[in-house]
Amino acid sequence: MNTVIPIHSSQRAGLAPQSLGPNIQQERGQREVFCGLTGIIWLHRKIQDAFFLVVGSRTCAHLIQSAAGVMIFAEPRFGTAIIDDRDLSGIADANEELDKVVNQLLRRRKDIKTLFLVGSCPSEVIKLDLARAAQRLNKQFNPNVKVLNYSGSGIETTFTQGEDACLSSIVESLVSPTLLNDTIHQDRKKLLIVGTLADVVEDQMMRIFKDMGLEDVEFFPGRNSQQMPVIDKNTVYLLAQPFLADTSKRIEDKGATRLAAPFPLGVEGTSAWFEAAANAFEISPQALEKAIAAPRQRANTAIARHRKLLENKKIFFFPDSQLEIPLARFLSRELGMQLTEVGVPYVHRQHLDQELKLLGPETLIMEGQHVEQQLDRCEQANPDLVVCGLGLANPLEAKGYTTKWSIELVFTPIQGFDQAGDLAELFSRPLVRKEKIAA
Ligand code: SF4
Repeated sequence: MNTVIPIHSSQRAGLAPQSLGPNIQQERGQREVFCGLTGIIWLHRKIQDAFFLVVGSRTCAHLIQSAAGVMIFAEPRFGTAIIDDRDLSGIADANEELDKVVNQLLRRRKDIKTLFLVGSCPSEVIKLDLARAAQRLNKQFNPNVKVLNYSGSGIETTFTQGEDACLSSIVESLVSPTLLNDTIHQDRKKLLIVGTLADVVEDQMMRIFKDMGLEDVEFFPGRNSQQMPVIDKNTVYLLAQPFLADTSKRIEDKGATRLAAPFPLGVEGTSAWFEAAANAFEISPQALEKAIAAPRQRANTAIARHRKLLENKKIFFFPDSQLEIPLARFLSRELGMQLTEVGVPYVHRQHLDQELKLLGPETLIMEGQHVEQQLDRCEQANPDLVVCGLGLANPLEAKGYTTKWSIELVFTPIQGFDQAGDLAELFSRPLVRKEKIAA
């Protein structure tokens, strides 16, 4: 039988013993999450010379096609190599078939500079060694095209882990700075922002860094797979997304140091995030204040009208995107919402340390999932708004709950000051819609 397992204080590494952090519990059971293939939707928009070739089943092809919506590109930058009956029955050699597909694709598409072979969870695909396939194809196509591989499988993962696996594979492939013979890069302290951000958000953040007097800033991933950062002991990095555990580890293996900060969601999180960069580069509080005062004021004005709608409303999070804890912090502290339960697939204690310190001891964080028990608790809590995956949203709406799809929070630009109002609106809009329907 699955039970709720309280986490002992010794397990909560990263929290000071005297911290009045939230009440973190764990449960294990049936989970309702999307797979990591979903990440391709925002990754292919960001890295504009990359192609994502899913090696999977027809189900994978349908998922990726429907998650991407209507295909508007004349030349899409993702596709599926479908493992079909011939492969299953052993008539065809799956490796030969894959090489054939890659050759056809790269002959036709000279714009592709990085090809990701993305594994999936059907057992026939798991048997294929995509790392070896990438090595083989690199011999043929590198340096014109770099071939990387990662898994987007839905077994024991949640959908944002697709981005983590993809970025982690890129970091692993980055050339060592000593091989670049580039003394400028080797000696200068520089800031790296890690996590996929919409271009508009990246541009806004870059403007603020420049206003602070910080010029040596790079974003990873960049818009072009051929301009990837040099990572070494002079790199300090700020996470822009809370779901990048493997990427972060690989970056630190190259000598970089993470700056502890809350995530740049809402006014408070974004201010503290820029402040962490300012402290690391010895930028004065006055220079920081000058750079962020105007955008912070705009953000405060933008969220004020949503606060009127959201204040004292109860919200319940089912675990899905791994953004739940920073979002809960924003919604409770800046918009006055009441947190009934914050479900999260995994709690990375170190990366979320600053966030957890901002949540009160009464906040229940549930790590993992036992969906039936969680549905019972949701019913008891009777929230005004439920944040959940697509699979749960329709049945919950049918029962009269107002829901917000968590996947929308990854597809929409929500980071930084100028997006704070839009982020608040993502939560107020379903309540407004419900009021209008009821009127
Ligand atoms: S990777 Fe697995 S979970 Fe994802 S679409 Fe393919 S079969 Fe389904």
